[in-house]
Amino acid sequence: MTTTPQPSEFLDTPFFPDGMTTPDPADPINGGYFAAAAEGRLAIQRCSDCGTRQYPPELNCHACYGFNMGWQDVVGTGAVWSWVEVVHPAHPALREFGPYVVALIELDDAPEIKLMGVVVDAPLSGAMEIGARVRVVFEQTADDLAQPRWRMA
Ligand SMILES: [Zn+2]
Repeated sequence: MTTTPQPSEFLDTPFFPDGMTTPDPADPINGGYFAAAAEGRLAIQRCSDCGTRQYPPELNCHACYGFNMGWQDVVGTGAVWSWVEVVHPAHPALREFGPYVVALIELDDAPEIKLMGVVVDAPLSGAMEIGARVRVVFEQTADDLAQPRWRMA
């Protein structure tokens, strides 16, 4: 199992069509996630008091209820823990797009985390498999925003 970070990879072309809404990279709760992504790093929230890692990021720790939250880089590899093939447009910009696969990824070095994301080159028509290996890639979705995506490994 990989224990060193992979070289970061950014997608050459956008995965989703124009017109999608995007998260605020300066959001006080999620900001660390997007700050890392902008540098090609995958980071998950970690409590600085008790060490509990959690996803999605929250204002405070779900284990000790402390508010001293920080960020920990992870290697960005994992396995598909669950997945769904999206066939109905979840946003007006997706009317002519898809199907595509959204998966919960069990991270190799933080297996308690199941991180949700799009697998940009996933096999379609029900061919994705639980346990399939994936690695993180990044998509520059705005001048000030990069978002983690996943690629088959
Ligand atoms: Zn804690």
